[in-house]
Amino acid sequence: MARLIEIAEALSLIRHHVWQPCESERVPLLESEGRILAEDVASDVDSPPHDKSLVDGFAVCSQDFVNQTAVTLEIIEDVHAGQVPVRAVRSGETIRIMTGAPLPVGADAVVMVEQAKLSNDGRFVTLHAVPQPNQNIMRRQTVMQANEIVLRQGSRLNAAAIGLLAEVGRSHVTVFRRPCVAVLPTGDELVPCHQTPGAGMIRNSNGPMLQSMLAAAGAVAVDLGIGKDSIDDLRRKIAAGLQSDVLILSGGVSAGVKDLVPQVLSELNVQPVFHKVNIKPGKPLWFGFQERKDQGGTETSIRHRTFVLGLPGNPVSSLVCFMVFVKPLLSLLQGITEPKELSTEVGHLVGDHSHEDDRPTFKPAIVDWTSNERPVEVLQWHGSSDLKTIAHANALAFFRSTKHYAANSPVDLLRL
Ligand code: AMP
Ligand code: MG
Repeated sequence: MARLIEIAEALSLIRHHVWQPCESERVPLLESEGRILAEDVASDVDSPPHDKSLVDGFAVCSQDFVNQTAVTLEIIEDVHAGQVPVRAVRSGETIRIMTGAPLPVGADAVVMVEQAKLSNDGRFVTLHAVPQPNQNIMRRQTVMQANEIVLRQGSRLNAAAIGLLAEVGRSHVTVFRRPCVAVLPTGDELVPCHQTPGAGMIRNSNGPMLQSMLAAAGAVAVDLGIGKDSIDDLRRKIAAGLQSDVLILSGGVSAGVKDLVPQVLSELNVQPVFHKVNIKPGKPLWFGFQERKDQGGTETSIRHRTFVLGLPGNPVSSLVCFMVFVKPLLSLLQGITEPKELSTEVGHLVGDHSHEDDRPTFKPAIVDWTSNERPVEVLQWHGSSDLKTIAHANALAFFRSTKHYAANSPVDLLRL
C-alpha cells in the first residue's frame, strides 16, 4: 500500500476518483461572485438592442456632407437615452442625439457635439465635419444576439461576468455548490494560536493556514478544532469530518509511533488510494475516500463520497501538498476545468542554483511577475517548518531532479 508514487500519478489518481463536481444550486446574482457557472447562459436580448449613437451629437445623413467642409442643418427633434425618435432625418435636417439613444430613421452617422456650433436661436446647427457612413454608430446586435450563448458552464464569475448576466436578464444563476471541507490539525503538541505554548508545545499554525487557503480556493471550511494523538479522539473527530465533502487532516501520517491517522481512517472504512508521494516537502501525503450511505437508505451514491487527505504536519509540507494536490481536487469538485500540468508558469533563475536532493522539490522563491523573463530568486530557508520564509515568498520554484542549475535556467513556478 505504502508504495511511493510520483506526483503525476498521484494527481491522476485524484482525477480518477473525483470525476464529478458537487451538485449545482441556484443563487441570486449578487451572491455569485467567484462561483463557477453550472449552466450555459444564453442572452435574451440583442446588444445593442437598436442602432445606437456612441457619442452626444447630431444624427445626420452623411450624403449631405459630400464635398463640403461645413454644413448647416435644421434641428427637428431631441432624443435622449431611453427615448425613441419620432421623426425621420431627411436631407438638410438633423436630430440632436445623446450617447446610447436609438438612431433615427434616415440618419446614417452622428457628428460629435464638439464639432457643432448652434445658431443664436438654437434652431440650426453648423457641423464642421465630414462624417463617413456609420461614423459614431454601433449597429444593433453588434455585441450579441438574442439566444446566443454568452457564458459557458465552468466559467468563474467575476464582476464583468456578473454585469453581463445582469445585461441578459439573469437575476439568479445556477452555480456549482461550494465544497464543504472539514479541517482537522492533529498533534498532542498543538495549542490554539491565542494561547502561549507551554514546555514542548507549539501553536497550531496549519489550522488557520489551511482554512484561509480553502476560502481562497472557493471552499467552505469547517473547523474541527485540534485532534489529539489518541485513537479515541481521532476516531470521534474524523467521524465528524467524514460528514463533509472533503476532510483535510494535518500531522500524524508519517512513520512515528504517534502517527495514528492512517490506522483510524482504515478503522472507519476510509479506503486508501495512496500513501507517500515522491515530493519534497510532503512525502507522507495520504489520500483516500469513503462512500457515505445516503441518509435513510442503503444505496451508496458516488455523489456522497467524502475525500480524505492526510497532509504531513510540518506547515510548509501542508502548504505544498495543498497547492499541488488539494487545490486541483477542489477545482474538480467545483466544476473548474484546469490544465492537467502541475505548473503553467515558467521563470528564469537569477543565479546558479544547486539542488542536492534527488526528490522533486519545491522551494520558496521571489519572482518578478512584471518582467517577461520572470526572474526567480530562490530563497535561503530552513526547511519544512519555516513558514516565515514562505510568508515572504510569492512563488514555489519546482526542481525536478538532482542537478546544478546555471543562472538563466528555466524553472517551473507555482504562484503563492
Ligand atoms: P507530524 O506530521 O505529526 O509528524 O508533524 C511533523 C511536524 O510538524 C512536527 O514537528 C509537528 O510539531 C509539526 N506540526 C504538526 N502539526 C502542526 C500544526 N498544526 N501547526 C504547526 N506545526 C505542526
Ligand atoms: Mg504529529
